[in-house]
Amino acid sequence: MGLNNGISELIRDFGSEKIGLEMHQLMTELFPLCRSITGDGVRQSLQIISQHLPLKIQEVPTGTQVFDWEIPYEWNIRDAYVKNSSGEKVIDFQESNLHVVNYSIPVHKTITLAELKDHLFSLPEHPDWIPYQKSYFSNTWGFCLQHRKLQALKDEKYEVFIDASLEPGNLTYGEYYLEGEMEDEILISCHCCHPSLCNDNLSGMVLTAFLGKYLSSIPLRYSYRLLFIPSTIGSVTWMALNKTQLSKIRHGLVAACVGDPGHPTYKKSRNGRAEIDRAVEHILKHSGEPFSVDDFSPFGYDERQFSSPGINLPIGSLTRTSYGRFPEYHTSADNLEFVRPLYLADSLKKYLAVFDVLENNKYFFNCQPYGEPRLGKRGLTGAFGGGKDAQSIEKALLWVLNFSDGENNLLDIAERAELPFSTVKEAASALIKVGLLREQQSKSILHI
Ligand code: ZN
Repeated sequence: MGLNNGISELIRDFGSEKIGLEMHQLMTELFPLCRSITGDGVRQSLQIISQHLPLKIQEVPTGTQVFDWEIPYEWNIRDAYVKNSSGEKVIDFQESNLHVVNYSIPVHKTITLAELKDHLFSLPEHPDWIPYQKSYFSNTWGFCLQHRKLQALKDEKYEVFIDASLEPGNLTYGEYYLEGEMEDEILISCHCCHPSLCNDNLSGMVLTAFLGKYLSSIPLRYSYRLLFIPSTIGSVTWMALNKTQLSKIRHGLVAACVGDPGHPTYKKSRNGRAEIDRAVEHILKHSGEPFSVDDFSPFGYDERQFSSPGINLPIGSLTRTSYGRFPEYHTSADNLEFVRPLYLADSLKKYLAVFDVLENNKYFFNCQPYGEPRLGKRGLTGAFGGGKDAQSIEKALLWVLNFSDGENNLLDIAERAELPFSTVKEAASALIKVGLLREQQSKSILHI
């Protein structure tokens, strides 16, 4: 099987600017749709993603029991507004789908300002932003608006109208399975339930779609499973319906908030020292850029479902600024200007670099373990040019030879040598080529 250079070649030829713009373009197409945990907004979004990646779209009927939860009624919205007594729309869903509390029940009545205010949400600290609010499972309705507009509302009668339906239907999610050499899987999951919000989480959907597109272009050792699911109820549903598949998942990442200008943040898996944790930390450490690492906590995105004690999968979350830590979070300011092509592309590249580690993190044996083998006679001295990288690869040759005793995989060696995984991998490739290194197949597969 040897080493897989498919991902490293993708990274080497990575045209950040072009890829970033393509990712942003897909986000722009998805932005106007009113997504929620169920409904046509999710279906339309998955259809758009299907043009880039052949998704299998699943429908799970209302009332289906999934662990401790039940698939709710499906929510769809066509229009909504609040009109003042002159008939002017003071709040209009057509201007922004954030104006309606997501999952609002239908309503049509005329009420006083005081009654209306019980159903209005705004952000006094950011008077020009519209907050994002949701009312899943609570049978209520509401509108969100700029605080400046709320303050300008006069004491008069208002017509409130929400043309929505909440009735038996389905929960919809998308899945893409990419078959590798092994049945062992890497899971990438993103949530597809937020309306016009970019970093949280159109950025995750777009990154996941592009990962699928790029990974499907190269041979892979692992199989990959990509999930586009509504948060919480979606991951619970997927796990409940795929219980027998869960044991195949070896590593995973939850993709969210990957397009803002902040530095990368990695939230570790519940275990904290899983291979995915070490791979991500290694890539971030050797990126030369600032980054943060957080321990696991039972808050955040769907990593908390995948890490519930009965499931306990080695799944972390690689974001830029994590949820709730940027002021634009869950507001209309999390928009197409806030998320930039450059950062989307950078996040995609980092995800690919992590998968390059996982694809190639194998155990090897030194075939000449009695003293140092002679590298010169095998053409390995001065074979990598004269630069700094060449010196690192030459150092890596000795690290790989010394620690390829069947007990250390390439990531162990890279960490111990404090060298980038890519350098250690290049050294290992060169040693394989001259017959000084051979793979310990059984151990590489079992991930001991
Ligand atoms: Zn959110």
